[in-house]
Amino acid sequence: MSEMKKPVIIDTLGKLLDGGYAFNLWCVDCTRGGLLPIDPFVKKLGRDHPMDIDGHVKCGRCGGKNVEVRIQAPQAGDRPFQTNERRFMSLSDSSRPAS
Ligand SMILES: [Zn+2]
Repeated sequence: MSEMKKPVIIDTLGKLLDGGYAFNLWCVDCTRGGLLPIDPFVKKLGRDHPMDIDGHVKCGRCGGKNVEVRIQAPQAGDRPFQTNERRFMSLSDSSRPAS
C-alpha cells in the first residue's frame, strides 16, 4: 500500500480563516458585491461551521438574502481587503428579530 498524503480539505470556517481566505459575496438583486473577511463568521457561527453560509449573509444595500457566496483565495504578499466595498455585505443577524 502506498501512502498517499491527504490533501487539506477546507470545509469549515475555521480552516478558511486559517488559510487566509475571504468570502466574495455577490448580491444577485443589486448585482453588486464585495469581500468579507471570514473572522466575523467564525465568531458568530463557530470554527466548525461548514463553509456553506447561505442564509447567514444579507446584502447591506437592499437587505436581500439572494447572495452568491464564493471563496476568495488569499493573495500572496498582499492584503486581501482593498476594496472600499468591503463593508457592503454584512452578517445577517438572525438573533435579532426583524421588526
Ligand atoms: Zn442587494
